[in-house]
Amino acid sequence: MARPACVQVDTAALRHNLQIARRHAPHSQLLAVVKANGYGHGLQQVARSLSAADALGVASLEEALTLREAGIRQPITLLEGFFEADELDAICEQQLSPVIHQPQQLEILEASRLRAPLHVWLKIDSGMHRLGFPPQAAQEAWQRLNALPQICRVRLMSHLACADEPDGEVTRHQLQHFLSATEGMEAERSLANSAALLAWPQTRLDWVRPGLMLYGISPFAEGCGADLGLQPAMTFSTRLIAVRRLRRGDAVGYGGDWVCPEDMPVGIAAAGYGDGYPRHAPSGTPLLVNGRRAQLIGRVSMDMLCIDLRDQPRAAVGDPVTLWGQGLPVETVARAAATIPYELCCRVAPRRAPACT
Ligand SMILES: *Cc1c(COP(=O)(O)O)cnc(C)c1O
Repeated sequence: MARPACVQVDTAALRHNLQIARRHAPHSQLLAVVKANGYGHGLQQVARSLSAADALGVASLEEALTLREAGIRQPITLLEGFFEADELDAICEQQLSPVIHQPQQLEILEASRLRAPLHVWLKIDSGMHRLGFPPQAAQEAWQRLNALPQICRVRLMSHLACADEPDGEVTRHQLQHFLSATEGMEAERSLANSAALLAWPQTRLDWVRPGLMLYGISPFAEGCGADLGLQPAMTFSTRLIAVRRLRRGDAVGYGGDWVCPEDMPVGIAAAGYGDGYPRHAPSGTPLLVNGRRAQLIGRVSMDMLCIDLRDQPRAAVGDPVTLWGQGLPVETVARAAATIPYELCCRVAPRRAPACT
């Protein structure tokens, strides 16, 4: 038996989730965000499954080139634009659309001779204060981009800081700032991530940019993807590689933090923080053994974790353990581990947790 930690990706779920996103924003074009290795699901596989999206969004030229080499022909947006001037040749050759979000990028464009016509996005900072031109600089940036002969199309975008708060004032303000900063500019506009697409209809505009929801995961602090009609795409699983009959008072794992309150069976599963399971998940974090709820106990090791098997005294070596996914929402595990599902999915280490066979 090979080491059993593995990731299974349900490509039908990805396609289903894309349809749900479409249903929420039927009049918008859809840019599917596949950065960070498709949120940990595998870049090429995700992109192939999302071939019905109007465009794809990645964080780097390397990711975009990987997609082109895999034969993906859809428009691709570089969400952080280019980092150096020497990326521009490849960007033009491969017809990628960089986001232009700060003055140096504008200067580089003005100083370059582009090999082919280029589509770009102009990013405005509407209040998140991360990337983008401040509203008062939007007009000048727009004019400078439009003055460049090789730039044949400029679209407008901004990003929301609090779209997962359904009643917050912030999103309303950001929408207003974005629309007023870009008033009179004849261009397509984009603002909505998953949370906004779902909770803020007025932000859908010409393009929506969902990421997380396409993987079947809820962007909100409560509930999970299934509540929104989504299906989880990733299942991270492994097997029991030992079952121990421990005695009352035995301490389990590094530091001996967890002590058996009675004689009891403890399962050892082959998955740990080296595979991307969160090291800070506390005792009590749920997982499934043979499809039934059980609890993590003790500290998570690099390659292993320990499970309270008192409710499943007959569990045996080789039995399946689900860390999250089918039957156990990653949202639930993320909350137990005081993190967000984005981080858990991205951190599943592909070399340590290969695709299930
Ligand atoms: C990552 C990202 C998205 C997608 O966000 P989700 O919350 O995963 O839907 C959209 N737009 C930009 C600019 C991003 O960086």
